[in-house]
Amino acid sequence: MNVLVLNVGSATVKFQLMQTDMERIEKDADETLAKGLVERIGGEAVLTLWTQSRGSWRTSASIRDIAGAISWILRWLTSEDSGVGITSIADIEAVGNRVVHGGERFAQSVLVDEEVLKALEDQIELAPLHMPFNLAGIRAVKEALGGIPQAAVFDTAFHSTLPETSYLYAIPYSLYRRHKIRRYGFHGTSHRYVAYRYRQLTGKTREETHLVTLHLGNGCSACAIRGGDSMDTSMGFTPLEGLVMGTRAGDVDPAVLDFISVKEGLDLRGVENLLNKQSGLLGISGLTNDMRELLEEAEEHYDRRARLAIDIFCYRVRKYIGAYLAAMGGADAVAFTGGIGQNSPVVRAAVLDGLEWAGLVLDKKANKTMVGNKSGRISTDESSLAAWVIPTDEELLIARDTVRMVLGVSTRN
Ligand code: ADP
Repeated sequence: MNVLVLNVGSATVKFQLMQTDMERIEKDADETLAKGLVERIGGEAVLTLWTQSRGSWRTSASIRDIAGAISWILRWLTSEDSGVGITSIADIEAVGNRVVHGGERFAQSVLVDEEVLKALEDQIELAPLHMPFNLAGIRAVKEALGGIPQAAVFDTAFHSTLPETSYLYAIPYSLYRRHKIRRYGFHGTSHRYVAYRYRQLTGKTREETHLVTLHLGNGCSACAIRGGDSMDTSMGFTPLEGLVMGTRAGDVDPAVLDFISVKEGLDLRGVENLLNKQSGLLGISGLTNDMRELLEEAEEHYDRRARLAIDIFCYRVRKYIGAYLAAMGGADAVAFTGGIGQNSPVVRAAVLDGLEWAGLVLDKKANKTMVGNKSGRISTDESSLAAWVIPTDEELLIARDTVRMVLGVSTRN
C-alpha cells in the first residue's frame, strides 16, 4: 500500500511516501519511495526533495499556503520528473497525518471522519500554534484526494497511559475538571517507536520493557516506560516543560513569569515567547540553539557559556533519568534518540557520567562509533542498567498505524 505521511507546520510541510503493508511490516521491509520538505510557505518556497530512484535535489516554487504545498507535492509525486514511478494520485492509497494534540479523547491513532475532525477542531485551544496547521493539512488532502482514508497519529497518544499521579499538576483540581489542565506529554510517536525497536533488538516482550527513553533533538523529552507503557514524561501541558531544549527553557519556577514581565516590561505572551524561543541552549550560550555548533565553540574556542549550556543540558537529562529510575523502581535500559541523542557521543557520555551507582558502565568505544543512523548498545556487558542508541522513525510508525487502521488491524505494538 502506498501511504503518504504528512507533517504540517505553520510554514512547512514534511512528507514521505512509503510502501508498506502487513507483510512488509512483519519483515521490516517497508520502503521509502520519496520524501521531502517544503519550507517558507507563503512566498518563494524552498523544496528539498529525495526519491529512491533519483537521489536528492533542491528547488523553489511560489507556494501560497498549505493547500498549495500539498497540491505541489501530489503533482510532483505523480510526475515523470520525480521518478517515483506512480502516474496517478489514485496510486496513493492512504494518508497518515501527524497531529500534535489528541487531548484526553484520543488515546490512539484514528481514521479521520467528520466527527473526528470536529473533535480535533474543538481541541485547537490546547495547541493553538500547531493544531490549525495540522488540520489545514487534513482538509487540503480531503479537497485534493476526496474520500481517501486519512489517519491522525497523535504526539500525545502514547502518554495516555500516564497515571493520575504523574499527569495531574498540584493546582486546584477544579482546573483540571473545568479546563483539562494536566500533563499530556509529546514526542509520543518517537518514544513509542524507540520502545518498539528496543524490543526488536533485545527480544523482550512488551511487558518486559522497562526503559527511560530520551528524545534529544531541537525539542527534548524523557519518558519513563514501564511494561511497555508510558508512565511519566517530561513535557507537560505544552512542550515547554521538562528538559533544556534548543530554545525552550524546560522547567522553571512559574513565579519567574511575573517577575520577568515586570522587570523586562513584557506582557504574558512576551514572557512565554521568551521561554519558548529565546531560552534553552540559545538563551544560556547567547550563541546558538544548535548543539553541534555549541560543542565546537566549547571544544575549539573554549567558550565558557557554550560549555555552561551543554553542562546544564546534560545535567538536566541526568536528573530526569535518576527521577524516572526512582519512579519506576529501576529500569533495564536508557535509550537515546533524536539528532543529539543519535549523533553526539560527547553529550551521551556527559549525560551518563556518574550513573555507575545505578549499574550503568559506558562502553566508550561503542559510544564513539554509534552515530548517524546506527542502533546498538553503548554500555558494557557487565552493566546492570544498559544504555542504547536507537534512531527514531516517526514517519514509519505513522505509515504503519495508517495501514493497520485501513485494514482494521489493532495499532497496539
Ligand atoms: P528536530 O527536533 O527539529 O527534529 P533533530 O532531531 O534533527 O531536530 O535534532 C537537531 C539537533 O541535533 C541540533 O541541536 C543539532 O545540532 C544536533 N545534532 C545533529 N548532529 C549532531 C552531531 N553530530 N553532534 C551533536 N549534535 C548534533
